[in-house]
Amino acid sequence: MSESPSRVAIVTGAGRGIGAAVARRLAADGFAVGLLDLDEAGVTAGAEAIVADGGRAVGVALDVSDAEQVEAAVTRVAEELGAPTVLVNNAGITRDNLLFKMSEQDWDSVLTVHLRGSFLMTRAVQKYQTEQKWGRIVNLSSTSALGNRGQVNYSAAKAGMQGFTKTLAIELGKFGVTANAIAPGFIATDMTAATAERLGMSFEDFKTAAASQIPVQRVGTPEDIANLASFLISDGAGFISGQVIYAAGGPKD
Ligand code: NAP
Repeated sequence: MSESPSRVAIVTGAGRGIGAAVARRLAADGFAVGLLDLDEAGVTAGAEAIVADGGRAVGVALDVSDAEQVEAAVTRVAEELGAPTVLVNNAGITRDNLLFKMSEQDWDSVLTVHLRGSFLMTRAVQKYQTEQKWGRIVNLSSTSALGNRGQVNYSAAKAGMQGFTKTLAIELGKFGVTANAIAPGFIATDMTAATAERLGMSFEDFKTAAASQIPVQRVGTPEDIANLASFLISDGAGFISGQVIYAAGGPKD
């Protein structure tokens, strides 16, 4: 087992929700954290909170699907915090609709943020990981990868994240870099609140209905996902790579 030489992590979509919780957890684990997001105010506040707790962090605004912005943001994290060896590809959007009503723009925007964004981010970070001969990549997939009504774009993107992850594991393993995907079920965030609104339900009723279908009888929290990310990023997880771990309060396959 090799020790991480540079404890610097980048989390995308860290302005709120799961990404914000992962950033907080990695800071508590001793990582300096680059918080990246479209939402500058969110990542600035998140970075300030980590610094106030005695950690090191920087918030950087970017669109993960823009190659120049990605390169600039990763370079800035490297200059301010050190070589990034951990990458959590978490930024995501939904544009749900049934197939016959789905626009080309809704298809393209979802695949672009999840897949092109993760590709650009990973390409930018891998050079630091391979130089350091140590790295951890965690990609956010979803139970929707198995199919979900109204999400033909999102489920294709999240299934794509799984193939992306397995190929990264194969290509980067010899450099001491692991790549794994977390596939959450229902996690209470603004994303699921927006789904409730689209369906005309209160978020509380939506969560209660979802919990009744989940074996552990509750919906997930961002911290549930941060706990798993923390483990996959730890030195002790170095023999786990190319896996998709469903964090859904019950089995999925
Ligand atoms: P969220 O609350 O909507 O947060 C997503 C974050 O990503 C937002 O801060 C958003 O910025 C940012 N973002 C969106 N597009 C971006 C872009 N092009 N460049 C940079 N940042 C961008 O979502 P969440 O629920 O925390 O989800 C996080 C990840 O987990 C996503 O990949 C999602 O698909 C996945 N996931 C979530 C659930 C769930 O139940 N919540 C389940 C399975 C998988 P803005 O605030 O500016 O829009």
